[in-house]
Formats: sequence, structure tokens, C-alpha cells
Amino acid sequence: MPAPIPLDSTLLAGGCSGAASLRPLLETVLTALADGAAERCGPLPAGGPAAPDATIGGTILTEHGTGAHEALGALVHALARGAADPADPHCVAHLHCPPLAVAAAADLAASALNPSLDSWDQAPAASALEARVTAELAALVHPSGPSPDALVTTGGTESNLLGVLLARERHPAAPRVICGANAHHSTRRATWLMGLPAPLTLPTPRGVLDPAAVRAAFERLPPGAHALLVATAGTTDSGAIDPLPALADLVADERRRRPASLHVDAAYGGPLLFSARHRHLLAGVERADTVTLDLHKLGWQPIAAGLLTVPDRSALIPLAHRADYLNADDDTEAGLPDLLGRSLRTTRRADVLKIAVTLRALGRAGLAALVDDVLAAARLLAQLIAEEPGLTLHAPPAISTVLFRPTGVDDERVAAVRRRLLADGSTVLGRAWAPDASGRRTLWLKATLLNPRTQESDLAALLKLVLERAADPAPPGDRPAPFPQTPAHPLPKPLPKPLPSQRKPPDDRR
Ligand SMILES: *Cc1c(COP(=O)(O)O)cnc(C)c1O
Repeated sequence: MPAPIPLDSTLLAGGCSGAASLRPLLETVLTALADGAAERCGPLPAGGPAAPDATIGGTILTEHGTGAHEALGALVHALARGAADPADPHCVAHLHCPPLAVAAAADLAASALNPSLDSWDQAPAASALEARVTAELAALVHPSGPSPDALVTTGGTESNLLGVLLARERHPAAPRVICGANAHHSTRRATWLMGLPAPLTLPTPRGVLDPAAVRAAFERLPPGAHALLVATAGTTDSGAIDPLPALADLVADERRRRPASLHVDAAYGGPLLFSARHRHLLAGVERADTVTLDLHKLGWQPIAAGLLTVPDRSALIPLAHRADYLNADDDTEAGLPDLLGRSLRTTRRADVLKIAVTLRALGRAGLAALVDDVLAAARLLAQLIAEEPGLTLHAPPAISTVLFRPTGVDDERVAAVRRRLLADGSTVLGRAWAPDASGRRTLWLKATLLNPRTQESDLAALLKLVLERAADPAPPGDRPAPFPQTPAHPLPKPLPKPLPSQRKPPDDRR
């Protein structure tokens, strides 16, 4: 007799009894989340990659399964215990936000109902909600656009790809992407994926695009070539914002000579638009043809919550696509909404639900208060660093990223300090290369503040930990691999050589 499949593992999340089936499972999940967080009790599990691997236990796919409660309890507990928890004020390495509880609760409903936004008959209410939310958020970015609209994406990477794709579709000539060295790596990937030449990448010694250099780059393009300028509003490394009004002027001027487009990657900075106090930092963004916005960064959404906005929804027409089973012409003519052209994906999760619930629950003022709190925390951290002789501040923060380093140590020590804080699980800091006061390329520690509950005492404690690790000589064997290796994460092999399609185009050689 084979062992019976545990009944609780096969109950469905939807239908009239879905909620009743979920309720006891959620109790198990919430208990495991609470226990795991309490046991970790910090921003990261101590001990490096081997520690969480050990708590996961043995084989995942066994012959008969362990049942819903055991599996949920064990693995949710292992994930919580082994999490990098952005809700901890010392977890500040990346644009990795602590999600709001209200958004996470909404996301559970999206999972239970499982609408798929590739056809109306899979998502009647979700598609109506998405149409409302995308129009409202796009109007925030392009308040005077003729008919602002937005696509919901998996994040900045997909939005940047769509920005390049829509630019390509706007003109018969393939676009030549021009961006700064400060641009996100997904811009280069987008050109690679689309078979376009690699971007013409302008140096950004001051951290932002120089309009004079952009003008010179425009002038070097062959006549008639289509220029696509990609500007950044909030760089990943330092939060710097390119001079959007000047860049928008340049693109407008260039349009008298050639096809020219402007894409603004505001994955990080976009939500400043919620804040009356900080909105001015994004002046000019409304003039872009396409704008990337990530609400899983400064918008406190569970991953994924990306958007691509356009001032006029006609810009999205090139994405139109037919598949008879999803949007037959006669169905569309009969009035069924056609959703397939609202993404490059087919099956698509209702990420819009958590976004909509958050917007409705907090309102503009509620979101603005969170934005303002995070920016204030970054300013406070910068001030504490500036007052501490043992630390050097790179620059006042543009948004909520603070670069700093222990004073008088070399780059290798900065890198080792970060790894040692990771290894003991006390602090999760990022790293970024940027010039020092003398212009030398230097490695900095990066604190990306996204937690609106951060207190001054948290920031002071973080700096104390950095100072302690910086003063403590590195133990023998700290480099290059201080962490015990695990079967799940073997040491990486050397990267392959760039593919031929990534070779520089001829006009980069001048
Ligand atoms: C995070 C980020 C991206 C990539 O977004 P994902 O959501 O990670 O795909 C792109 N551009 C900038 C400026 C970013 O900060």
C-alpha cells in the first residue's frame, strides 16, 4: 500500500472553501516566520553561506512528501531564520526594501485568486484594477501627457528593455543608445538582447551625465541615426540623479536634426514624485518618452512591482500581439479587453493588487511620509559620518544612499570589512566604486536606506560596528574566501569571454 498523499497538501486556495483551507496553513506560516526571525535576531544569519544551507535539511523532493504543515513549517522557518531581512535597520546593502505588511497581505490574495493578466477571461476584476492603477501612476509621472499609461513589469530590468524596444519601434532606424557610465547594467543587456550595438557609454566622473558630453555624443552620430538617450534618476551605486531638465532640452533640440528619444531610468528615484518636499528632484522626468519606476525599492512592495510609464498610451501600440485563444479579433470587437499587448510576458501575475492596496491604504501623503523619513535617515547618517573622524563621507546623499569608508585604510581593507560584517551577520552593507576627494577610483561602503522605521540609535550602532571591524586586523585566511564553501554554492568558474555580439561597434573605436 503506498502512503496516502496528505490531504492538507492538496486543498485549493481558491473557491468558496479556499479561505478556510488557507487559514490553518497561514497560522503555520506565521508561526514559522516569527520563530525564524526570533532565532536569527539580526539582519543576516551569521556564518556565511553554509549556515542556511544546513537548516534546510535533506532531500526536498521525497517519494511521499511530508505534508503541508511540516513542509511549510520547516522551509518557511529555514528561510526566515536564514533571511537577509531588509526590515532590520542594519540590512542596507541594496535597493532591497522592507515590504509593507499591508502589501504582503494583498500579495497573498493575488496568489490565492491567481488572476492571469494575459486575457480578460482570466482576470476580469484584476484587469480593471490594473487599468486604473497604471493610468493613475502614469499621470503622476506625466501629469500633462495626452493619455498617460503604464505597463506593470517585473522591475527595472524589464522596464529598461521595454524602453529600448519601444524606442526601436518608434523609428525605422535602429536606435543608438547613449548612456552614462553610471547607468544600470540592464541598459547594456537590453541592447545585447535586442541585437543592437552596445551603448555609447559616456564617462561620469562626477557621478552624473554631463550635458556637454551628451551634446558632443549626439554630434558624433552619423546623420539620420536615431539617438536614444538613457538617463538615470537615482543611480544604483550612489542615488545620483542625472540633470533631467538639461537632458530633456538636449533631446528636444536634437529632434530637429534626427530621430531622438529619451528614456529615464527612475527605478530608484521615481517614488520621490509622491513627496511634495522632494518631487522637485525629478523635474524633467515628465518629458521622457518612457520612464522606468520600481515600487519594490522606494515603494515598499514585495518583489515584483515594476512599471514602465509613457505620456501617451499610443506609444504602447507596437506591443500589440494576437493569439486567437487569448484575444481573437472577434472577441476584441465584441468588447472584451485585449491584454496581451500590455506585456512581453503571457501568463502574468496580479502584481497590481498589492500596489493598488498600498496606494489606497496610505494615500499620497502616507507614501510621501515614508519617502521623507527615509531621506531624512540618510541625511542623518551622512551627518553622523561627517562628524566621526574615523570615517570619511563620499558626498551628501542625493536620495537615500550614503557612501563612506573607514578613514586611512586601503580598498582591500574596505572590502574585507564588508565581508566580515556579512560573516558575523551583524550588518549588511553594499559596496561601490567612486572617486575620492583627489579623483582616485576608490572602494566605498554603501548604505542604501529604505527602512522608514530606522532610528538614530540604529545608525549610530551601525557606524560603531564598522569602526570596530575596521580597527580589528583581518584574521589569517580572510581573503579570498573567508566563508566555508557549500555544495549549493561552489566556487565560481572564471567568466567566459564576451560573446561576439557584445563586441564594440566600429564607431566606438574612435
Ligand atoms: C534596481 C535598478 C534597476 C533594475 O531593476 P530590477 O527591478 O532589479 O530589475 C534598473 N535601474 C536602476 C537605476 C536600478 O536601481
